[in-house]
Amino acid sequence: MVERTPRDAPLPAGEPPASSANVGDLTPEALHAHLHRVADWIAQYRATIEQRPIVPRLRPGDIAARCSADPPAGPASIDHIVAEMDTVVMPGIVHWGHPAFLGYFGSTSNGPSLVAEMMTAALNVSAMTWQTCPAATELETVVLGWIRRMIGLPDGFTGVVYDTASIAIVHALAAAREACGADVRTHGVAGRADVPRHRVYASDQAHSSIEKAMIVLGLGEANVVRIPSDAAFRLDVTALRTAIQDDVRSGVRPMAVVATVGTTSTTSVDPVGEIAAVCRERGIWLHVDAAYGGAMGLVPEGKWAMEGVELADSVIVNPHKWMFVPLDFSALFVRRPELLRAVFALTPEYLSGDAAAGEIDYMDYGLQLGRRFRALKAWMVVRAFGTDGIAARISEHRRLAQEWARWVEADPRFVLAAPVPMAVVCFRFAPAGLEEAACDRLNVAIVQALNASGETYLTHTRVRGRVVMRVGIGNILTTVRHLEQTWARLVQAAERIAAHAADPAGPA
Ligand code: PLP
Repeated sequence: MVERTPRDAPLPAGEPPASSANVGDLTPEALHAHLHRVADWIAQYRATIEQRPIVPRLRPGDIAARCSADPPAGPASIDHIVAEMDTVVMPGIVHWGHPAFLGYFGSTSNGPSLVAEMMTAALNVSAMTWQTCPAATELETVVLGWIRRMIGLPDGFTGVVYDTASIAIVHALAAAREACGADVRTHGVAGRADVPRHRVYASDQAHSSIEKAMIVLGLGEANVVRIPSDAAFRLDVTALRTAIQDDVRSGVRPMAVVATVGTTSTTSVDPVGEIAAVCRERGIWLHVDAAYGGAMGLVPEGKWAMEGVELADSVIVNPHKWMFVPLDFSALFVRRPELLRAVFALTPEYLSGDAAAGEIDYMDYGLQLGRRFRALKAWMVVRAFGTDGIAARISEHRRLAQEWARWVEADPRFVLAAPVPMAVVCFRFAPAGLEEAACDRLNVAIVQALNASGETYLTHTRVRGRVVMRVGIGNILTTVRHLEQTWARLVQAAERIAAHAADPAGPA
């Protein structure tokens, strides 16, 4: 007998029942009309993106101030809300898809992925188990197989899709921790005298997501050992050997080495084969962060960058960085998927499937239960462009980066700050006679001035302690024309700012 709860109690006299006019969805006719209008809006946005200032001129809080703090109690028409896109939302958008957006690693939208994202939203399935959506699960497996082959990884690797590389590396290092045998899943690490410090080694150029993963795994960011890099920003293998040897002598457990193919600042490539040899000698997990550089595996002239990666225990590649799948989509490949399951599989009764029948339940390979149907957009992009089309775009981006590097080298006031193996150029405005600290200030000021113009967008970074400008070419719409315009603007800004620095009384 089910007891009545107060919620089931009869309504007090005089209180009307909820109106049936206030429930349900848009009518099919209305939805059809709105989708058509929004399709026009999206197509128009893509067609005019180049005419928009890339970065809005706003102060923090300006967009929120246009919205009510109270959630709206009553309904509003979709036409009205879509109109507010233009007045409330669009003024605060940074146009990452603009062809002169050259910041970070460009994550690029494109026609095929937009079509897929609309369909994904319509389906709104959760790829947590095979049973919750066989197509989402099996397309994920198919697409992961394609990506694995595209970047040149052998058959022995099994993939899983996560949102970002930062989350994927938590899973890779959780598997590495499991391989160390301390059964942290059951007992944790706090208060245990039988668990030595677990350490991870990575170059001083590797991404900060390694520290974040160690924080979340309870192993501590202090246990990430940063190994110096050489003149070409590649991890120094001799220094790695020494660090590991010293740790082993003092009772520390070397858990993993992270090698990077395409570091964040300069896109340098660690000597993965040599690092793999060290890991094999010592029985240490090798993780390769190819979040950006994995795309090099698609082009004949880039395959050198992925040499040795086949020796890794785990590999991350982000198709949302340089393989034209929009945010977010990160693929982790592991040799021993059973380790991920050992850490993460935990199935409440209501989700139990029938794995014996060959079902893959991706929820068993990670923290997340509900999982977006991310595979659809990757499936659409690879099918629409083909691997040849994706490779051609990657080759073109590398060619454009070389072009930019030539302009830098041809102007004696500029220097290249690092080799250009992929599609990122780090360079510095360093006119003769100017001291280093003054150059640092100039380079920051040039980037700020260009970004404030709204016409182009780049970032600065530090290389060997000095500020440099950084151009990342990854947008599907970027052509040599956009780069020529940006270079001309950059030279002009540099001359103007340098002249003003030399004579502050002159025109700014
Ligand atoms: N690894 C490298 C080399 C990166 O450059 C980045 C971000 O730029 C990441 C990992 C983290 O990527 P995500 O934004 O997907 O977490």
